[in-house]
Amino acid sequence: MLPTKSYAAQDSKTPLGPYSFERREPRENDVLIEISHCGVCHSDIHQVRNEWGNSIYPMVPGHEIVGRVKKVGPGVTKFKEGDLVGVGCMVDSCRECESCKHGEEQYCEQGNTGTYNAYERDGKTISQGGYSSQIVVDQDFVLKVSDKLPIEGVAPLLCAGITTYSPLRHWKVGKGHKVAVLGLGGLGHMAVKFAASFGAEVTMLSTSPSKEKDAKRLGAHHFALTKDRDQVKALANKFDFILNTVSAPHDYNMYLGMLKLNGVMICVGAPEVPTPVSAFALIMGRRSVAGSLIGGIPETQEMLDYCAEHNIVSDVEVIAIDQVNEAYERMLKGDVRYRFVIDMKSL
Ligand code: NAP
Ligand code: ZN
Ligand code: ZN
Repeated sequence: MLPTKSYAAQDSKTPLGPYSFERREPRENDVLIEISHCGVCHSDIHQVRNEWGNSIYPMVPGHEIVGRVKKVGPGVTKFKEGDLVGVGCMVDSCRECESCKHGEEQYCEQGNTGTYNAYERDGKTISQGGYSSQIVVDQDFVLKVSDKLPIEGVAPLLCAGITTYSPLRHWKVGKGHKVAVLGLGGLGHMAVKFAASFGAEVTMLSTSPSKEKDAKRLGAHHFALTKDRDQVKALANKFDFILNTVSAPHDYNMYLGMLKLNGVMICVGAPEVPTPVSAFALIMGRRSVAGSLIGGIPETQEMLDYCAEHNIVSDVEVIAIDQVNEAYERMLKGDVRYRFVIDMKSL
């Protein structure tokens, strides 16, 4: 077994702290990765604090992982020692169902194996994430990372990147579309970059007036403050799509009114409580509410390659591991520009 240093939550109430545990030795098809950086996703906060009601402790969060291959199992063909690689939100799936066969392992009918806060396929080993020195992952769930991009900016692509890239591709968002991105945090800033890069006209919908300048720098063509009644009114029937990245409970109906005929609000944000949706908000304008979960392994690789080709990375604030609890508090106040990334050398 491989002794591994990490930061973990022991329960839903106490701050994260140092924790040692053991990873498995690489099996036939496994890759051992020395973690260099790990992004801090709002899903880490939801799960550390048991806001989704499914938390398993001790919990080492982190699913925006980049690092270098340290060792490979004898059956590994895709990677070799020294390669720069990434791991996102999944480390396994059943591999047999329709979703898995189509490379959409995130929708595995038997449930994908989360990188942390999950049981591995053996049904008893708790998976532990990227706020740690190293990780062992089956080669089929490891991504190739280009060394052309700054590695700390690549880490958030593994969740914030793919979670926004995938629905924009699924709904074929591009030239001629008016798209609104709701919430300018980790996911939101990647959504703006991708939607603008795909040729859409992008409006940032935010509760933070101080983010207007950044939204435009990130690629948004327009900015609207959702706390301002008049600005909201002026947006009635405006958008083909709204990509909703908001992490806290909010009124969907207000935003549905901003959709054009046949418009779609795609929810990727996952607040802990359900929100009532008025039938009328949908009926008037044949509108839809949809959801989307991260992305499959082939599409995650496609996204990473797209980013390398188009020079797209996340805007990050690099922190030391002992700043992670403070980073959580700042994210809860919307004070993140636009992703915290932990430098794992500080562990
Ligand atoms: P984040 O960095 O904290 O950003 C969330 C943003 O939402 C904030 O910066 C803020 O933007 C806005 N916001 C917060 N509270 C709000 C409120 N009450 N009303 C309106 N806007 C509010 O979070 P993130 O890491 O991007 O994650 C966002 C959500 O996506 C989380 O719920 C996370 O669990 C979920 N998620 C889902 C998937 C998936 O596969 N579907 C994957 C990853 C994450 P402004 O300051 O601009 O208003
Ligand atoms: Zn995430
Ligand atoms: Zn499956």
